[in-house]
Amino acid sequence: MSTFEIINEEYIESLLEASLNTSKSEAIAIIDKSRSMTGLSAKEASVLLQINDPEVLEYMYKTSKEIKEHIYGNRIVIFAPLYTSNECTNNCLYCGFRSLNKDLERKTLLNDEIMSEVRLLEEMGHKRILLVCGEDKRITDIDHITSAMDLIYNNSDIRRINVNAAPMEVEEFKKLKAAGVGTFQIFQETYHRDTYKKMHISGSKRDYDYRLTAVERALEAGIDDYGIGVLLGLYDYKFDVLATLVHAEYMDTKYGVGPHTISIPRLRPAHGSGLDKVPYELTDEELKKVVCIYRLAVPYTGIILSTRENAYLRDELLELGVSQMSAASKTGPGGYAHDKQRKDQFETSDERSLDEILNTIIDQDHLPSFCTACYRSNRTGEAFMNLAKEADISKFCQPNAIITLKEKLMGTTDTELISKGNIIIEKELMKITEKPIKDEVLSRLKRIENGEKDLFM
Ligand code: SAM
Ligand code: SF4
Repeated sequence: MSTFEIINEEYIESLLEASLNTSKSEAIAIIDKSRSMTGLSAKEASVLLQINDPEVLEYMYKTSKEIKEHIYGNRIVIFAPLYTSNECTNNCLYCGFRSLNKDLERKTLLNDEIMSEVRLLEEMGHKRILLVCGEDKRITDIDHITSAMDLIYNNSDIRRINVNAAPMEVEEFKKLKAAGVGTFQIFQETYHRDTYKKMHISGSKRDYDYRLTAVERALEAGIDDYGIGVLLGLYDYKFDVLATLVHAEYMDTKYGVGPHTISIPRLRPAHGSGLDKVPYELTDEELKKVVCIYRLAVPYTGIILSTRENAYLRDELLELGVSQMSAASKTGPGGYAHDKQRKDQFETSDERSLDEILNTIIDQDHLPSFCTACYRSNRTGEAFMNLAKEADISKFCQPNAIITLKEKLMGTTDTELISKGNIIIEKELMKITEKPIKDEVLSRLKRIENGEKDLFM
């Protein structure tokens, strides 16, 4: 099968080349256009990718902040990954789980071990997890994933499970949907075919086309929340970011549903990796630019930031357009129960606890949200996009962020966090102008104070 119609490398390269000599005023005009929040074409995004002028960059940062603020307010959704297995038959050069890494201690969690991890995540206050595993059809097949999901949904207070796993057939995606997946995430890693081949030396992941079309099969199976992204650092970021946008545009045009999220993972050192250096190093400034370009080009798509980045940079990226953030993550099976083991996929940079991260987020005047209501109220896919497009989030997202933060505060002993959290809740309540909505929120806050849980609008 050819996927030339989805990703045409020559087209992407020609866009980047044609935009090399764009004038400053043309770049500014594109940034101005993005302020209407209707998104940008790939051609327009290619111009922004070429910007080096500090003044224009500054203007783009400022605009990105404004758009983020308008669409998402100051909310930031919090989640944590849960690794169920590091078994893998692929050989992705960059990954600690690759089968040629004989140094890795292989582990697939048993049910009670999964539940031990879940209990620790619950204790921290997490409600939303990203289930992750390596790819070994004998061990981590669809039944492994769905039985872990059933176990967690039936025995814990985790309310939304997103999944990051290998590409599947439509029938398998149907099982994933039936098990209650939130978002199905899959990163193309790089859209550049030659680099893709070099990075994936053996195993089924070598099949670029099968991976690229995974989200279409997910949609066919009824999963309309899907997330995409590239592993930044494998190839020229300008090419890969533009290709991500071309992929998003293709999906939106063909199916009327763009990606629910775009992730921005940047290559990290991994024990046993087959790479001795980052092939295409990306600076912090460039990563900031990437976040802004996604925000301007696909304003209603969530941008996910992980603990691959350090605390300082994460705080900055938060201002620029990121809408979801993982916190206190471990990247190996059993990582929450047994720290510092030899089972991890890659090294994280932000080692702060969830409560420490929440303190900083609130210091930055952002509102951490543990909300999982959309997917449970069937506000997914196109329905979600329409909701977001109408900027009607004030009815749901803002109130739910307040209510779920209150629930988190009820379960913590960090007195500084409790006091800061209650202050920001008061501040956010003042922003709700419609009386019936405010009354609803106040009544739910009272119920939470009286020990009730899981209340949402
Ligand atoms: N095994 C499945 C796959 O490859 O699609 C799903 C999970 S994989 C463990 C999740 C993601 O981790 C990969 O898609 C890749 O982008 C990212 N990753 C792998 N090695 C990494 C590294 N050294 N640094 C940062 N991210 C990495
Ligand atoms: Fe396996 Fe995924 Fe790591 Fe590749 S990235 S080696 S498929 S776990």
